Amino acid sequence: MNLILLGPPGAGKGSQAKSLAIRYGIPQVSTGDILRAAVRDKTGLGVKAKSYMDRGALVPDNLVVEIVAERLKKDDCESGFILDGFPRTIMQAEAVGAMLGALGKKIDRVINLEVAHKEIVKRLSGRRVCRNCGEGYHIIFNPPVDDKKCDKCKGELYQRDDDKEDTIEARLKVYEEQTAPLVDFYKKKGSLVTIDGIGGFQEITEKIVNAVKGK
Ligand code: AMP
Repeated sequence: MNLILLGPPGAGKGSQAKSLAIRYGIPQVSTGDILRAAVRDKTGLGVKAKSYMDRGALVPDNLVVEIVAERLKKDDCESGFILDGFPRTIMQAEAVGAMLGALGKKIDRVINLEVAHKEIVKRLSGRRVCRNCGEGYHIIFNPPVDDKKCDKCKGELYQRDDDKEDTIEARLKVYEEQTAPLVDFYKKKGSLVTIDGIGGFQEITEKIVNAVKGK
């Protein structure tokens, strides 16, 4: 089962992808997570990507496509994968289509999580992440016991630079201009299902699971 989770930043793609990955026993492939790890480790990729990420711009297509091509070749993607945060441009969508076509595979479903602009700003600006284990929190919707420490590993909680209010607006603009056209792109291919991203976490997961089953 090869899935794509589409939607603006803060739509809940990452959290849903984590839960679906456990449910289906297939990996979550998040280009944002891979890039953040590269920036943290100061690899060649990380050094190239950092300035784009810091200002909320997209990292160039060729770099991101290369990451995904390498990742999808790994054995754990053999029986399926969940792409989270990729593709983000038409060029990336065409590249992944060609990549999979060459392997005799295809994208089975594209889940488009829909969330309004105002709600996104609220969600992203309250988001906090553990520097140590990557666990996500929200200061209002999912607060940690201690507002500076991770409940799970006691690591330090921080706010991603790109979750600060100025950068959020830049990311939303980038989404509208470069990523939103993918909704039509996949609609035309017949693989898109749009789901309301507002509601209880489990409720949204169930809607996605039903969409995957074709219900
Ligand atoms: P995310 O965690 O998915 O919101 O991604 C964080 C940042 O990583 C984005 O704002 C981009 O700078 C970069 N990024 C992640 N995925 C992609 C992608 N598919 N194409 C280009 N840039 C990406």
